[in-house]
Amino acid sequence: MTTEPNLIPSGATIEQLATGSTWAEGPLWIPDEGVVRWSDIPGDRIMLWDAATSEISVHRDAVEFTNGRMLDRDGSVVQCSHGRRRLEREMPDGTVTEIVSHWGEHRLNSPNDVALAPDGSYWFTDPDYGITQPREGHPGIREYGGCQVFRWSEAEGLTSVIDDMDRPNGIAFSPDGGTVYVTDTATAAGHGPGHWIRAYDVHGSEASGGRLFATIDAGVPDGIAVDVEGRVWSSAGDGIHVFSPEGAELLFIPAPEVVANLCFGGPEETDLFITATTSLYRIRTSTRAAQS
Ligand code: MG
Repeated sequence: MTTEPNLIPSGATIEQLATGSTWAEGPLWIPDEGVVRWSDIPGDRIMLWDAATSEISVHRDAVEFTNGRMLDRDGSVVQCSHGRRRLEREMPDGTVTEIVSHWGEHRLNSPNDVALAPDGSYWFTDPDYGITQPREGHPGIREYGGCQVFRWSEAEGLTSVIDDMDRPNGIAFSPDGGTVYVTDTATAAGHGPGHWIRAYDVHGSEASGGRLFATIDAGVPDGIAVDVEGRVWSSAGDGIHVFSPEGAELLFIPAPEVVANLCFGGPEETDLFITATTSLYRIRTSTRAAQS
């Protein structure tokens, strides 16, 4: 680990909490339940790790290939479903309902990850992995042609907010909501779009001023999380890379498996939970989640 003593308490190490997933994604800390919920996408199931007991269980199976998720302000979980090609809501009582599945007359591709904007709207990425990767969904075509980032709100419905990326994937807002970060997992060799984290200025319901924020050389940046000081914690093929709000790399935490996604949580919101290939890991930090 490179040195940034302010971010990781001395002696903290990356701990394996659970294993046995096929491709673990979409971690979310649910404070009311004291659990981490995550997706095993090819296993077509949602898993739970209980912080009080360390027990691992299957939350639900036959879930139509869920991926990323977020906690809404009412305590429900908003999640992406590759198989149903939609954004959906799971209530605390287990009821699952559709939020949005179409842009105009076209079906979405396969929503991948979702973030809550300060105005309460949901911003989500829509690459095509759920319709092109047989183990992650069902074969299909891109009905609207591209892979975009969308915004949904109850009042305004669905609008496209970012249309200049190849395979938008992870998404997170800065603490003040003025910037949205989006990773691109295009399969380009070398320093192509598949290694980029881009930043956009957010003005209400629109994003503009897209620019390169940081580059991940090892594998691709998939999921990302932003801490309370605006640092961006990114997944990568070799572990977790942490960037300052200006895009300078501050810290690298090696991981034993390819990292897909990460989130802050735990009793003090200071634990970083990491989904990495077959496993869920945790490392304690000296920061905490951005409250957006
Ligand atoms: Mg993803």
